[in-house]
Amino acid sequence: MGQFLENESFSSYPRVFARIQAFIESDNWAYLASCYQGAEMTTAVQRRMRDLSGHNYIANQWQPSSGELIDLIDPATEEVVGQYAHATKAEVDEAVVAANAAQKQWWAMSALDRANAMHDVAERMIELSVETGECLTREMGKPFRESNWEGGAAASSFRYYAEIARHEQGRVAGPAIAGQIHMVLKEPVGTVVSIVPYNFPLLLAGWQVAAALAAGNAVIIKPSEITSLTLLYSMAAFDHLPSGLVQVLTGGAQTGQDLVGHKDTHAIAFTGSVKAAQAVATTAALQFKPALIEASGNDAFIVMPSADIDTAARGAAFAAFLNCGQVCTSAERFYVHEDIYDEFVAKLSSHAKALRVGSGLELVDIGPMSSKRELERFEKIVDRAIEQGAEVACGGSRSAGRTTGWFYEPTVLKTTHDMDVMHGECFGPLAPICKVTSLDQAIDFANDSELGLGANIYTNDLEETFRAVNEIETGIVWVNTPLNDNDAIPFGGRKLTGTGRELGAEGLELFRNSKMVMIAPTAEADPEWFPYPDDDTYEATTT
Ligand code: NAD
Repeated sequence: MGQFLENESFSSYPRVFARIQAFIESDNWAYLASCYQGAEMTTAVQRRMRDLSGHNYIANQWQPSSGELIDLIDPATEEVVGQYAHATKAEVDEAVVAANAAQKQWWAMSALDRANAMHDVAERMIELSVETGECLTREMGKPFRESNWEGGAAASSFRYYAEIARHEQGRVAGPAIAGQIHMVLKEPVGTVVSIVPYNFPLLLAGWQVAAALAAGNAVIIKPSEITSLTLLYSMAAFDHLPSGLVQVLTGGAQTGQDLVGHKDTHAIAFTGSVKAAQAVATTAALQFKPALIEASGNDAFIVMPSADIDTAARGAAFAAFLNCGQVCTSAERFYVHEDIYDEFVAKLSSHAKALRVGSGLELVDIGPMSSKRELERFEKIVDRAIEQGAEVACGGSRSAGRTTGWFYEPTVLKTTHDMDVMHGECFGPLAPICKVTSLDQAIDFANDSELGLGANIYTNDLEETFRAVNEIETGIVWVNTPLNDNDAIPFGGRKLTGTGRELGAEGLELFRNSKMVMIAPTAEADPEWFPYPDDDTYEATTT
């Protein structure tokens, strides 16, 4: 996450910079806050959210769906902010036909023209990010700063893939027959279905759509029910592309399954829970469709005595509580060396207590949880840990004094590794901390998980660093730098977290078919052809 905030220079984009500057200088922050606090005023974004309600985005048009409509609830106010529709089978068919037609048009363009069109997407996403940011905060609650950041971070992956895709489109091998050209050509698979969760809808859809488009495909996005309007809103950044190249069909599991199982979709990119991932992977497997699976995480966070404990505690607070703990790579379980355990628990608790919890459109660090269902699921996890003997260092309950909204206090628990809380994904504002006696024990506990997305270690010891990097069984290891990612390096997990990788050159692979091509300069008879020589017949050996 830090990558975009730290590296992206707005000063090189004067138009965008001016717009953001104007937004900051105008009193829009106060305006947003006053609208949010329940007043009569309605923002332009709220009006747009109502207009987009119940629509799909098919063939570059927002079209009203004839499917069932379900209310979307602002998790901070519990007010209805709009509706999403369950896209019908007829709407799925219509989108698939449009996608396959658009894909042919897209692939017929030059790689340079495709790259330029993707750079335009990036620019438009940044221009839209204040609006999509407000929409996202109203839909799922995260602080506006984080929602606004998502548009820019997604844009960054469009820029990366715009360039890397035209850098190569296959490989030429040394010929197995003298004088010929032997090569692998990379071709698009066709139409990719991108199923995304609610926690980073713009960013995660952006990663998948950018790679799929760069590889020459069309994409149909199936957003999470909770953040349907944000993805619909963001389609304004794609309307210059061939009609149907990027589309959004809203709905739940059924819409997802209709797309995955559709005979004319060709690859799946899924991000979400293990249970949904297994359902998606099963349907895709029956048709031998390639499926990228990015499922749940249960990331360990190890702290050794050699570490800078102050910074480790601040990093831990960010890794555990960012987005109310609803990050696939949230630090879900802490293993802290006994020599520094009490100090670390005290420091992390003091950071947790200082966090400002409230509406994401106010000046806060943490918003509400995304839905009532998620809050109730998370509460049961904390209650169960306490039942099993966990000691509450801070938090442990819903935010006192709030009668509306799904707020929960950032919570720190003193736990042991045998408790249930250390063996699943809590996906909420919780830091359970277990004492360990050695790095060996910390690594053993870190590896004792069915999931394998990421892991953190705070250390200033080179040997500990090498051991963690080499011995932890996850797709990502962070040493003293939690939660960061890089468009140029593959992201993904092992074990039940999934299979395949997003980002980096590797992120193109699922979306490309390899075609073996061999070319001889002239048509000449091969001495290996029929008839076989008379002197080459089998003769039995007798002893
Ligand atoms: P979820 O599994 O409930 O939903 C994810 C998406 O799958 C949604 O669009 C949903 O409608 C769809 N879906 C659900 N059941 C389906 C089915 N049977 N067939 C087809 N589609 C189906 O997940 P969520 O609650 O939105 O997101 C949280 C989960 O996502 C967490 O477990 C988190 O770890 C995971 N996640 C993983 C990564 C990663 O990169 N590994 C990133 C972000 C989130």
